[in-house]
Amino acid sequence: MDTAKYHLDIRDAISKLCSQFDSSYWQTCDRENKYPKAFVTALTKGGYLSALIPKKYGGSGLSLSAGAAILEEIHKSGGNAGACHAQMYTMGTILRHGSEEQKSKYLPKIASGELRLQAFGVTEPSSGSDTSSLNTTAKFDGKNYIVNGQKVWTSRAEHSDLLLLLARTRPITEVKKRTEGLSVFLVDMRGLVGKSLTIKPIRTMMNHSTTELFFENMPVAPENMIGEIDSGFRYVLSGMNAERILIAAECIGDAKWFIKKAQKYAKERIVFDRPIGQNQGVQFPIAKAYSKMRAAELMLRQAADLFDQGKNPGEEANLAKLLCSEASWKAAETCMQTFGGFGFAEEYDVERKFREARLYQVAPVSTNLILSYLAEHVLDLPRSY
Ligand SMILES: Cc1cc2nc3c(=O)[nH]c(=O)nc-3n(C[C@H](O)[C@H](O)[C@H](O)COP(=O)(O)OP(=O)(O)OC[C@H]3O[C@@H](n4cnc5c(N)ncnc54)[C@H](O)[C@@H]3O)c2cc1C
Repeated sequence: MDTAKYHLDIRDAISKLCSQFDSSYWQTCDRENKYPKAFVTALTKGGYLSALIPKKYGGSGLSLSAGAAILEEIHKSGGNAGACHAQMYTMGTILRHGSEEQKSKYLPKIASGELRLQAFGVTEPSSGSDTSSLNTTAKFDGKNYIVNGQKVWTSRAEHSDLLLLLARTRPITEVKKRTEGLSVFLVDMRGLVGKSLTIKPIRTMMNHSTTELFFENMPVAPENMIGEIDSGFRYVLSGMNAERILIAAECIGDAKWFIKKAQKYAKERIVFDRPIGQNQGVQFPIAKAYSKMRAAELMLRQAADLFDQGKNPGEEANLAKLLCSEASWKAAETCMQTFGGFGFAEEYDVERKFREARLYQVAPVSTNLILSYLAEHVLDLPRSY
């Protein structure tokens, strides 16, 4: 059933690591809204979260397709990498656009896990998907940038030392394009929390450690700006292909988990004196979910391969995210239906995964926004917004 032929050694190691964290571990974290600390520590110690950091900076220097294999296997095992996936890829902004000084200061510590960079503050309550109209400002007072404003859905802020923050450094009225005048800062939150930075957890339908952030005259030293002033939107965009490919891999892992679970149950559950899986009404949806997963998986592999060849696969990364999130949701729905009433019981763990899998059609980018990208940038249709 597992058709993935890449990175078998990594897949094998991750699968062994994940076997220490069974469904009761994830259910307990979910029920108690608890951060899966032991799991994140094990992944960090194994060096898996530093997969994409070059060896020169203390990481494993692996390809994006290897990173994708790690995340896919976690989800295929029943786990959830949402607690820490950003530690793998948020550092890409520093790696690609940071100064040599910033890279040598931060990357080795991020690689070892001494510093956690897994919070990414872009979305705001009033701007939503329209990132360029965000309202958080950073004004230079001659010594520091002073940040004021608010973010929403900043995940893992309570479990991170550093925050990658996008803020407006030039008013929207003074720029030619709305995407100009935004800058990226690497904020060391230690020492700021409870003073000029307030973190407020948001309770959600799944265990995701997401928060709201409030900045009140929060000082950030100029040396913590990444790249050039007013060019931050471009830097954030440049990391999106990698993020979309990695999230797509998590979706494929989820799809595989749901399909395996449904397949097993359909063979074991006897109703009307025969396994439910003998009925075509039960087996066809599973076969359909499998076929959708396989097709989406091909797009994922292609996107990751192109990325690893140094190309800029905007089309393929977006297609992979779209198709893989739809494949995982189709598999989730099929698994739920195959289990009948028992799908709703916590004990079987289907309902937890079902709640978790739904996120990826909304975050980190919603399906509509991907379709808009494809319509405008691939199909050359007029921009809709
Ligand atoms: C659990 C969770 C974790 C998250 N983690 C982070 C994080 O760590 N950092 C971060 O910065 N953000 C994070 N996000 C935010 C996430 O990226 C946004 O929720 C997502 O981009 C959608 O934005 P929105 O929620 O403001 O929806 P809105 O922009 O308000 O959109 C609402 C709906 O309208 C649709 N829509 C809006 N405009 C258009 C249009 N022009 N055409 C067609 N449809 C349109 C959207 O597709 C969506 O379905 C997270 C979100 C969640 C739920």
